[in-house]
Amino acid sequence: MAHLPIVQTLYAIADTAFITKNPPILHETTYGPELDSSESHTTNTPRDAISLFQLVKTSSLAAENPFSQKVTEFVDGYRTCQMWDLNPEEHHVKLNDKLLDLMRLIDEIFFFNTITRGVQGPEGTRSLVTLRPILVDQKTNSAEYDPEDQSITVWLGVNREGQWRRHSFEHLLHCIIHEMCHAFLENFCDRSHPSHELYVDINDGHGLQFWHLLHYVLEIILKLTGSKEWEVEYKKFLGERWASVSKIPPASDYSDSDSDSDSDSDSSDSSDSEGPSGSSPKGAP
Ligand SMILES: [Zn+2]
Repeated sequence: MAHLPIVQTLYAIADTAFITKNPPILHETTYGPELDSSESHTTNTPRDAISLFQLVKTSSLAAENPFSQKVTEFVDGYRTCQMWDLNPEEHHVKLNDKLLDLMRLIDEIFFFNTITRGVQGPEGTRSLVTLRPILVDQKTNSAEYDPEDQSITVWLGVNREGQWRRHSFEHLLHCIIHEMCHAFLENFCDRSHPSHELYVDINDGHGLQFWHLLHYVLEIILKLTGSKEWEVEYKKFLGERWASVSKIPPASDYSDSDSDSDSDSDSSDSSDSEGPSGSSPKGAP
């Protein structure tokens, strides 16, 4: 059984995100056929995308306690926002706050409260990643994660034929979760892992493990809410991409860096309009 990342290590990285661009060398790990079990977990815990995904799948609140109070709060908030969609223009101001509440709950349920963790920023304490809702969509994407200023921008609606129309709640939440997966991998993945490009960076941050992580979160939310609208929303955007990615199982051994390097022929999303590569903003549909 491979070691899993340690959540405290992720907190330490988050806490220094605005202080240093280079995480402490203490957190680096070595990649070989098998780690010596006698080695210290604090110096040899992996942080490649597969290991982080395994951590989410085995140790997050969603995995360990799907009936927790936080999950109940999330489902209640989800249902409230669905009700507001009956009169979307009327409720768009309240929706701003509710989306932030839901982002925090998703962070607690899936990401160990790392993404919205309060950290020391250049101008005082702030959330590691902030949410910026903007009324009018002027871009092709509905949301965007910018790793430079650690923000997720979500455009709530679009002008069509002179009339503002808000996106559906399910679409907005889906877009925010898409960007949260980018933010989680961007902040906590070990970029020195030999398969980091394949797992994460390729196709503007839409590597194989990005899709596996996103699909996992979206599926669990479907189970928690039983929402038909959610199923329609996310399958509409993930459908074809997932059909190709899902043929490639997530590797179970993070140390095996070569076995699947030739199998990621089509994990990209040609229809997802994204910015340029590197640390540029990463968009959602
Ligand atoms: Zn994206």
